[in-house]
Amino acid sequence: MAQLSDDCFAHGGKLMSRDEALELLAERLARVTEDAAFDLPAALGHILTEDVVSPIAVPRQDNSAVDGYAVYFDDLDHEAETRLPVVGRAAAGHPFNGASARGQAVRIFTGALMPDGPDTVMMQEDCRREGDDVIIKPGIKRGANRRLAGEDIAAGSTVLQAGRRLRPQDIGQAAAVGRTSVTVSRPLKVALFSTGDELSEPGHTLGEGQIYDSNRFTLGALLRAAGCLVSDLGILRDRRAAIEEALLRAAAEHDLIVTSGGISVGEEDHVKQAVQSHGQLHAWRLAIKPGRPIALGQVGNVPFVGLPGNPAAVVVTFLNIVRPLVLRLMGGSELSPHYFQVTAGFTHKKKKNRREWVRARLEPTGDGAWLARKFPREGAGILSSLVESDGLVELPEDMTLLEPGRSVSFLPFSEVLS
Ligand code: AMP
Ligand code: MG
Repeated sequence: MAQLSDDCFAHGGKLMSRDEALELLAERLARVTEDAAFDLPAALGHILTEDVVSPIAVPRQDNSAVDGYAVYFDDLDHEAETRLPVVGRAAAGHPFNGASARGQAVRIFTGALMPDGPDTVMMQEDCRREGDDVIIKPGIKRGANRRLAGEDIAAGSTVLQAGRRLRPQDIGQAAAVGRTSVTVSRPLKVALFSTGDELSEPGHTLGEGQIYDSNRFTLGALLRAAGCLVSDLGILRDRRAAIEEALLRAAAEHDLIVTSGGISVGEEDHVKQAVQSHGQLHAWRLAIKPGRPIALGQVGNVPFVGLPGNPAAVVVTFLNIVRPLVLRLMGGSELSPHYFQVTAGFTHKKKKNRREWVRARLEPTGDGAWLARKFPREGAGILSSLVESDGLVELPEDMTLLEPGRSVSFLPFSEVLS
């Protein structure tokens, strides 16, 4: 297995912007997973690690884009109807084998090879049949409705680039150039823990002061949605020896360890000490809200990420830091999801020099645009705020006051959860 350099998460300890953090991850992290050949149906959602080059032109030969009649453009009258005899038939998979001379038409269907000679296809809706003749309306352009060989893909061209996460249409593209399998990154193996003595497993009766562990379920789903193979390793209790043992065992069998909770400043913190005694740990103080701080380090050579415990902070830090990180470890090239511009439907005051993500629901404005409505309760612990939201409004560092009507960046959850 490929290994990261020793202490790849070290930094000066200063407050970091999200962009600085991403740059650092992109610089220091490399792929750690090996190649795997996957049959096309199984390759969906995996990161391609080869350039897929087409050995053929697509289409291989000129063919018709519509059902109609293949004709010589120069035979057509541009002002009045043209009458031509129909001398043959070409259907998809059944080419016309005869010759079509000047002054003749061939009945043709979508996907059928163009017969030798004719350069244009007249749509059947613009034609009339009279016995063996076809009568064609004036007004078509030369070469209309004819698909040219190679107009989709030129032979020898790269149709899918390494680093791409394969979507359904990408799988189809590989098939369209004749592939049955592709080389992808094997999924990243991630060990997932929650930490905290207040946590109880769902299904159990809650004791005094206990809450159900939800983060492990949110994070497990987020990691799987990012293409990882997740080992759910349960809850780490605040006992140093047990934590060390669990982390070492996880490091032996995984590419990444992710925990949530127990890394806040000042906490009596065994996770931090356990990681430090078997590797390195660095607090990344990120200028983001919700979310800071995050702990990044290594247990032996295996990267470790400790996220904050608050459920909303978990999701925001996952999307901004962990998702790019896991994609990077699998050789992904597109680390940032797409944000879209929407109109703010709320007022929001924020601190300068900090990037904030506001949970919001989208409403149609009625004129084809979207209005973002802020979820009324903003606490980082409020998981229902995420459930009720469609995504996150991103407010840049230099902003201090957002007023309704302004255009803002919006990250739909649908961009990152599939
Ligand atoms: P911490 O980061 O450990 O100080 O936790 C911050 C808040 O998040 C506390 O209210 C915790 O109870 C809560 N929390 C921590 N871990 C989880 C978890 N796995 N599921 C739900 N809430 C959690
Ligand atoms: Mg805790």
